[in-house]
Amino acid sequence: MEACHLCPRHCGASRTPNALGVCGQTRQIRIARAALHPYEEPPISGNRGSGTVFFCGCSLRCVFCQNRAISRGEQIGEAVTPRELTDIFLRLEQEGAHNINLVTPTHFLDGVLQALELVKHRLTIPVLYNTSGYELVEALGRLEGLVDIYLPDFKYYSSKVSAKYSGAPDYREIAEKALLEMYRQVGTFTLDTDGLLRSGLLVRHLVLPGNRHDSMAVLSRLSELLPVTDLRLSLMSQYTPDFALECPHKELHRRVTRFEYESVLEHALSLGFTGYMQGRASASSLYTPNF
Ligand code: SF4
Repeated sequence: MEACHLCPRHCGASRTPNALGVCGQTRQIRIARAALHPYEEPPISGNRGSGTVFFCGCSLRCVFCQNRAISRGEQIGEAVTPRELTDIFLRLEQEGAHNINLVTPTHFLDGVLQALELVKHRLTIPVLYNTSGYELVEALGRLEGLVDIYLPDFKYYSSKVSAKYSGAPDYREIAEKALLEMYRQVGTFTLDTDGLLRSGLLVRHLVLPGNRHDSMAVLSRLSELLPVTDLRLSLMSQYTPDFALECPHKELHRRVTRFEYESVLEHALSLGFTGYMQGRASASSLYTPNF
């Protein structure tokens, strides 16, 4: 089997059941869930929901991952062929989805591309690529013309922080190139007449406890990389320690304080970003209005 180099981990794994890479998946597409999702950002979920397809496995494997039931372990979810994936996309559109939202799909890129090439011309709703931001430019380049909206995280500034929480000291360097490639492909964001995102870039950043200075540095760097008025920012406060209690990083064993979140939000506003923020008190996925 061909050695896998689809993502920046460059494992070179053959991706057979006995030789998996960091993503923990063979090449067979596996999905954990495909359904309308009401709790993405307002211009993505709208009033009917986003057509989310959660792929199993992940190549970043953050210590605080809230989706670890999906992102780790090979034997979860359902195996589907690219053609079956196209049926899922069409079913979600029929159910009223505002978009097709591919969540962490890159380790199945070959199959996902096959599905998109088969069905893109039949979809009347945008295709959204939802990613950790830890992506190779070459992989993203293969998606040009098939993806309308990129929804990347920009997680870390410091290589020490990204090494500590995701085992990826090169995260920022990789994510910066990925963001530039995404912007090259989709350009300035556009909204439809209902205020739903039709194309463009929505960048997510999750504020982590004890790391507000890193968050501010992320936003400053983003504002240097791309025109802030051409993209939307989603500043997330939903961090919950439940999934990190066993990790050795004590600062992750609590929630983000109001002071931490608000100081990052203030910095975002001072840089000219516009976008969305989450309700902090519940640390839930519910969004509060735009900022
Ligand atoms: S997609 Fe998986 S196997 Fe391939 S390089 Fe990335 S982590 Fe390794």
